[in-house]
Amino acid sequence: MSGGRVDVAVVGLGPAGRSLASACAARGLRVVAVDPRPAAVWTPTYGVWEDELAELPPTVVRSRLAAPEVRAHETHRLSRPYVVLDNIALQAALPLDDVDVRPARLDDAEVAALTSSSRVVVDARGARPRGLRADDPAPAQTAFGVVVPADVAAPALQDAEALLMDWRTDWRTDQVGAGTAGLRPSFLYAIPLGDGTVLLEETCLAAVPPLPVEELKARLRRRLAARGVDPSAVDTPLHREVVHIPMRGRGRPPVDGTLAHGVAGRGGHVVTGYSVAHALRRSRALADELAAGQVPRRVDALAPADALREAGLRAVLRLDVDGTLALFDGFGHLPAHLQRAYMSRDGDLADVAAAMWSMFRRMPWSGRRELARATLLP
Ligand SMILES: Cc1cc2nc3c(=O)[nH]c(=O)nc-3n(C[C@H](O)[C@H](O)[C@H](O)COP(=O)(O)OP(=O)(O)OC[C@H]3O[C@@H](n4cnc5c(N)ncnc54)[C@H](O)[C@@H]3O)c2cc1C
Repeated sequence: MSGGRVDVAVVGLGPAGRSLASACAARGLRVVAVDPRPAAVWTPTYGVWEDELAELPPTVVRSRLAAPEVRAHETHRLSRPYVVLDNIALQAALPLDDVDVRPARLDDAEVAALTSSSRVVVDARGARPRGLRADDPAPAQTAFGVVVPADVAAPALQDAEALLMDWRTDWRTDQVGAGTAGLRPSFLYAIPLGDGTVLLEETCLAAVPPLPVEELKARLRRRLAARGVDPSAVDTPLHREVVHIPMRGRGRPPVDGTLAHGVAGRGGHVVTGYSVAHALRRSRALADELAAGQVPRRVDALAPADALREAGLRAVLRLDVDGTLALFDGFGHLPAHLQRAYMSRDGDLADVAAAMWSMFRRMPWSGRRELARATLLP
């Protein structure tokens, strides 16, 4: 730090921390930011809904999918464009030129110590600042994905422009009569990346314990083979992606005297695992508050809709394959504004409740019983 007390110290330069540091500096605040690799390009393939891009320039869009599909027993075309972000362009759109950037990895005590030199300290070190442990017991989304040329991926897409969630069960073992009883559901996320390649990712939305990545890789292989994709696509892809998202973020309060932002706090959507669009939006509003001299008690205060989203997570964790397919057929039939409320970290109580009630009502009786049990049990 170049000496003297600063306005804001941001620890962690992922989407949450970088967008906040950049927004605070743009508002004339003195900002210091700390990350072990501050210049590193983010590696995850981030997707958001186009209507969530807000003030970001169009250059941040790597690929635009006008009508992604959800498939369960039925096919649902969503009339809401989805975009994959270009991480280099996104980072460029969140400049750190006026931020005092320091390469370092800080533990909790070192983060707490920043309160002596900064008016506000924001912990944006992500969900697991000490690194992921293989035996992490928290509910998590896991996925295994491959990037392959578009012509290789074509049979997997089955004429869809993009598959946001394809819950059909052609990942099952190919033994005749093999069922899905006792197995956790997973879906195919198949997203063209705009450069002649496609990401094909087998994803378990949420499970306790998390579904092992090796199992997801085996499912992806079987699913793609069943659709006529050469299995070598999985073994020798252009690129691989492994996902592990703790659904409840850090899952413990921030270090005393600091704010937690992004998945270090409660910035993630507990059902979808998404947090990027919300973090980018929240960073701008938080920077406005800090520039006005206001410091909130929490970056993401507990909202009434959070109890419903938590119930939604319980449903996802407990529903079996049939129940999950019925649930997402229900989602596919929702009007667009309720689909948005269910998927958004910012959906309000009335809309989230209406979305969940509508999904429940559309399920068959057996599914309703299962969903009520999954949701209501502690
Ligand atoms: C592969 C993958 C794909 C995903 N895809 C999507 C998606 O499509 N859409 C979506 O909305 N969400 C997605 N997510 C979920 C979630 O939004 C991301 O995890 C997102 O990166 C969270 O942003 P964040 O800034 O809160 O935390 P992080 O991105 O985890 O950033 C934390 C930062 O803190 C730094 N840091 C860590 N420890 C320390 C330390 N001790 N000291 C200092 N700095 C530290 C890290 O270097 C990192 O820069 C995905 C997650 C993964 C893993």
